[in-house]
Amino acid sequence: DPAVRATGIVKRYGSTLALDGVHLTVRPGEAHALVGRNGAGKSTLVSVLTGMVRPDGGTVAFGGAPAPGWGDTAAWQRKVACVYQKSMTVPELTVAENLYLNRFPGGRAIRWRTLRARARELLAEYGVAVDPADRIKDLGVEQRQFVEIARALSCGARLIVLDEPTARLDAGGIERLFGKLRALRAQGVAFLFISHHLQEVYELCDTVTVFRDARHVLTAPVAGLPRTE
Ligand code: ADP
Ligand code: ADP
Repeated sequence: DPAVRATGIVKRYGSTLALDGVHLTVRPGEAHALVGRNGAGKSTLVSVLTGMVRPDGGTVAFGGAPAPGWGDTAAWQRKVACVYQKSMTVPELTVAENLYLNRFPGGRAIRWRTLRARARELLAEYGVAVDPADRIKDLGVEQRQFVEIARALSCGARLIVLDEPTARLDAGGIERLFGKLRALRAQGVAFLFISHHLQEVYELCDTVTVFRDARHVLTAPVAGLPRTE
């Protein structure tokens, strides 16, 4: 079964038709790029796939099972992880606290020692070399981005959506991010990569879907595409 399959997704904002019956399938372990001009509907589809926006029509399934009920945020987080352009961590809190907040939004009491140990395990699992006791605001851009990824995946999702994840990274940071994504992929994690940079799509992805004016235009192997921008 696909990591995610969306069919016939329709979304309107007033008189704007943001998605006009689009479909998208991402297989397990696939690196799938979503490209298209500003306003094509990419962000809206991401919002639908992550349970943030309720579509006016269409269906979403993860691993062959229907998506969680509307509003069941915790259940959606177990299905799909998302790294947005905007940071989802709380800068004043430590790495460990941020990871824990995501996993247990209710926030029951826990000893710091236990919290730190769990965070350390989670960071090790995703190969993130950061001290769980560090505050997010004291980390570099790249470390912060890696914590975002660990945070997003901490609920056990096998699909991660990355919306322009390279925007704040330098060339070295992008290379290290891509290395990390390839390692996750080797573990069977699928990703949907939204990018304005075709070069990054060529480097990282095997399949590309193009949107134009709220419609799905094509899905094709990256290997077959022309190399000029
Ligand atoms: P991107 O750069 O990813 O294409 P945009 O700049 O188009 O994103 O949109 C940024 C945010 O603003 C998104 O959350 C989107 O849903 C929202 N947005 C975009 N267009 C409108 C609009 N016309 N009215 C209200 N919100 C909008
Ligand atoms: P993309 O991410 O490809 O730039 P979006 O999904 O942000 O595209 O936008 C698709 C269309 O929907 C655009 O016309 C945009 O202005 C509109 N739109 C997106 N979010 C909102 C919103 N929250 N309210 C009103 N219009 C929106």
